Amino acid sequence: PLTGNEPVEDHQITVCVRKRPLNKKEMNKKEVDVISVPTRDQMIVHEPKNKVDLTKYLENQKFRFDYAFDDSCTNEVVYKYTAKPLVQTIFDGGMATCFAYGQTGSGKTHTMGGDFQGKMQDCKKGIYAMAARDVFMYLKSPKYKPLNLIVSASFFEIYSGKVFDLLADKAKLRVLEDGKQQVQIVGLTEKVVDNVDEVLKLIQHGNAARTSGQTSANSNSSRSHAVFQIVVRSPGMHRVHGKFSLIDLAGNERGADTSSANRQTRMESAEINKSLLALKECIRALGMKGNNHLPFRVSKLTQVLRDSFIGDKSRTCMIAMISPAMSSCEHSLNTLRYADRVK
Ligand code: ADP
Ligand code: MG
Repeated sequence: PLTGNEPVEDHQITVCVRKRPLNKKEMNKKEVDVISVPTRDQMIVHEPKNKVDLTKYLENQKFRFDYAFDDSCTNEVVYKYTAKPLVQTIFDGGMATCFAYGQTGSGKTHTMGGDFQGKMQDCKKGIYAMAARDVFMYLKSPKYKPLNLIVSASFFEIYSGKVFDLLADKAKLRVLEDGKQQVQIVGLTEKVVDNVDEVLKLIQHGNAARTSGQTSANSNSSRSHAVFQIVVRSPGMHRVHGKFSLIDLAGNERGADTSSANRQTRMESAEINKSLLALKECIRALGMKGNNHLPFRVSKLTQVLRDSFIGDKSRTCMIAMISPAMSSCEHSLNTLRYADRVK
């Protein structure tokens, strides 16, 4: 398994999987861990033949990715191989995206936003914050300091095809597309930031807005995509030099559940399903020429990220999160199959 000392590979599209540990609740229920990470790029699902006799396994299903993180990997190690190489991209004038994909409870928010200690989220240990830290490191380096770039941040949520500003009391925002297919989120808060502490405050604020008014049993955050963006602009003209979008996606099991009797839930599920399928297509086509026919407008998610999928300087990374418990086996297989087809 990866220790953090291995060299980082150079890919335009990086696809990784991360297994989280079994938690206390799962251990109390005597859940079995059915996932193994035998090498730094493989993940295996050991599918039990029946739930009674756990010693009988179906043929193991093996998948291969750029990196496979086992349950001993820290966020810092995951960051090193996923989002960290993309900081360079935005300073070189490109667009970068990093997605956390997986079922609800698999570790997307833990990885991106930081772990919860009770009700408090330690956002310093999340990928949003680590990326922001390195953005300021680059900004002050001899190579990029002379560019006098200006850094700003925004944080919004896409829920049921609508955009809400997490830095402005979840104000509902409109998305406009001009004749040149430039997409704009009208009135989105974009705060200029001078140091990492200012970014941490914004992350905390957005994280809190995201989870407010929710019960864990029926959480909105599992049905919405959260998008945290760091934008670097050239001085004077304020032209976008580079943009880094870090996305905590809606739970993929929500997209699968289109049989619900409740109309609202059914529509949300259809929307999530559509956006995750369109996302896969857009990532696959990254950097290809003549990709105008891509399904950007099929979903709000791909529509607002359009400029990050076009252009030969765009780069992306997907981290597919895996719950190790046997009861999550079907969802884990779905996640691995999706990730497998992204590249
Ligand atoms: P999701 O956002 O995908 O629904 P969460 O990030 O909220 O999932 O994770 C679900 C639970 O599992 C949380 O209690 C979280 O702290 C825990 N968890 C997730 N990933 C890890 C990990 N790598 N190590 C330890 N605990 C984790
Ligand atoms: Mg979450």
